[in-house]
Amino acid sequence: MKTIKVILLVYAVSLCMMNAHSQEADSTVLKKFYTEALTSKIAHDNLKQLCKNYKGRIGGSEKSLEAIKWAEELLKSMGLDTVYKQELFVRNWHRGEKETGIIYSSKLGEMHTHICALGGSIGTIDKGIKAEVVEVHNFDELKELGDKVKGKIVFFNRAADPTFIYTFQAYGSAADQRFHGPVEAAKYGAIGVLVRSVTLITDTFPHTGIMRYDKDFEKLPSSALSTIDADSLSNWLKKDPALQFYMKTNCYEYAEAKSYNVIGEIRGSEFPKEIIAFGGHLDAWDNTEGAHDDGIGVIQTIEVLRLFKTLKIKPKHTLRVVVFMDEEMAQRGAHKYESSVKAKSEKHLAAIESDRGGFTPFGFSLDMNEDAFKKVQKWKTLFLPYGLFLFEKGGSGVDIGPLKKQGIPLFALITDSQRYFDYQHAASDTFESVNKREMQLGSASIAALVYLIDKYGL
Ligand SMILES: [Zn+2]
Repeated sequence: MKTIKVILLVYAVSLCMMNAHSQEADSTVLKKFYTEALTSKIAHDNLKQLCKNYKGRIGGSEKSLEAIKWAEELLKSMGLDTVYKQELFVRNWHRGEKETGIIYSSKLGEMHTHICALGGSIGTIDKGIKAEVVEVHNFDELKELGDKVKGKIVFFNRAADPTFIYTFQAYGSAADQRFHGPVEAAKYGAIGVLVRSVTLITDTFPHTGIMRYDKDFEKLPSSALSTIDADSLSNWLKKDPALQFYMKTNCYEYAEAKSYNVIGEIRGSEFPKEIIAFGGHLDAWDNTEGAHDDGIGVIQTIEVLRLFKTLKIKPKHTLRVVVFMDEEMAQRGAHKYESSVKAKSEKHLAAIESDRGGFTPFGFSLDMNEDAFKKVQKWKTLFLPYGLFLFEKGGSGVDIGPLKKQGIPLFALITDSQRYFDYQHAASDTFESVNKREMQLGSASIAALVYLIDKYGL
């Protein structure tokens, strides 16, 4: 009996030592990821190329096809085991010439405003539209006005709620106006729609974003106004409710176009058929360089593969970067990827998305079962030295979201959200608005997570 106790004790002690040893080894590896990421210029240079050479790469555009080619060539230059594309079809919407938005008031004069057409909107007819404006803050107010908005432009002016600390919730408090406003206004006979940009910043950049029509209601030309212009229009309306707004937008839509996801892989040494996938979306609204949304996500996840290659860390499972297309319009890339995983019965250990801007990472949002969730909690202390503390249950992202139905554990990189919506979907989302260190802390964090999933599974 005594002998058995001694054997058990020795076994327990050696297990503890092994754990301590592997923990130490993990922290050493993590340090290497962060050191390499923070001392290399490569990812930042890649982001610059993407932003400056492929601005306006909305799905279906020439620029998006050029960007796809660039991403494919970049991956091919990295000495990966596999690089390939997945074909898909996307909407082919174009903004056309820059929009015009002018307030005409017989009492106050006229004022040019900063507007941009909402994504997917029809354009005004050649001469534009000129009509009185009715300001509302929600769909109930609109319903109460009913036919009084007939022949007029409905102006949705509810600001994003600044009391939310996590700004994605502030965005969620106002984005319904942009997404559903055009259909709601059409129900009562309006002829156009203006929406206050869904952002917390006060500036003159209009923020676009997707909107939807409904086949049962007329399609209204719809534009976003910058927050400063929205405030001005609201103030002018108080002094002159009969003022008129002139809007000219030049959007058009062709038949759907061929496009692609781009995929690159390092083959796993022990389980090549088991995959850890990570990615961001390559498309960006046509009015932006798409740095934070989502050039960052693409560059960071490509950087993960470079970090593994440079540090000569050979993964047991296949590491796959997925450069998604068409997140902004209809997530065709996301659906294509999910259906391909299903059709090929590809086993995924996990999927990770980066699409919340290149800001200081706080941690990961986890969408997975209880067992996987508990496993991830054990890794938390490894990330604390790098400022990541948040490993909570929550949603992931729309590009990997469809994989949820296959039971794949999903992760989203969570960043400091305070400035994200200052830039999102606006011309201010430039390469210059990105801090290299913040971006690279994100790259290393994703690499570290991938390393741990590869080593311990989920
Ligand atoms: Zn995005």
